[in-house]
Amino acid sequence: MAEAETSAFALRAQAVPERRVALVTGASRGIGLGIALRLAEEGFYVVGTATSAVGIERIDAALGAAGQGALLQIEDAGSVTRLIEALDAGPGLPLVLVNNAGITRDNLVLRMKDDEWQSVLDANLTGLFRITRPLLRGMMKARWGRIINLSSVVARMGNAGQTNYVASKAGIEGFTRALALEVASRNITVNAVAPGFIDTDMTAALSETQISQMRERIPLGRTGAVDEIAHAVAFLASERAGYITGASLPVNGGLHMS
Ligand code: NAP
Repeated sequence: MAEAETSAFALRAQAVPERRVALVTGASRGIGLGIALRLAEEGFYVVGTATSAVGIERIDAALGAAGQGALLQIEDAGSVTRLIEALDAGPGLPLVLVNNAGITRDNLVLRMKDDEWQSVLDANLTGLFRITRPLLRGMMKARWGRIINLSSVVARMGNAGQTNYVASKAGIEGFTRALALEVASRNITVNAVAPGFIDTDMTAALSETQISQMRERIPLGRTGAVDEIAHAVAFLASERAGYITGASLPVNGGLHMS
């Protein structure tokens, strides 16, 4: 942990200052890593976060000169503050924020422990609020900003065994719409991307039977790829999406249409 903290608190100053900084939480693997690489490809200087030194190293290696890794334990308010301070002192505060970090702790409500409920809400919803709040000031000053929150198809569809996760994702969609109204006059857009079933560590925990049953329910007949989510996020971060705000973009192969 000490090693990770050193990396997080010594973010390098940006090599090309005119490049916009994008922050992607939970960028050490899965969808977050795909988004970080895509935004780097689109010309952003990307800071991606991880919860460990190994994760930070993975992000550093993946981004090369186009960005760097930093430490973030999103449910820890102190960790959020330290990351913001390191960004301010290093590459600069981001004008693009991708709230991607998320966890699951599945159980049926009848068996769900307080800690299983609270940890998911703390990480997925309260953490997202805590990191978004201090970054609004810089976007308001710049009169430009993009906030993209990772929701999920289950926010609208529901999913047995995931009440904590579904509540957090439905909360994210509500937060997205309300914040979009608060900051629209400053040319800051706030949107959500709601992935369906994407092949990552989060879904690797499911059995082959569960995965094939899920695949049968998807009209496009397949699970989604990380890059398909990353492209949707990159679009919402771009100038081309400047008239879209308060939306939740489904990227789910037709699994749920609303
Ligand atoms: P993943 O493979 O499990 O990766 C999760 C990422 O979040 C990792 O980078 C992890 O960092 C980070 N993270 C975990 N706990 C954290 C914490 N307490 N504080 C800060 N960062 C933390 O997840 P994924 O499948 O790529 O999902 C990414 C997002 O998409 C999530 O919000 C998820 O809910 C959403 N989503 C995924 C799917 C899907 O099918 N995969 C579907 C719908 C929505 P470490 O590596 O350091 O642990």
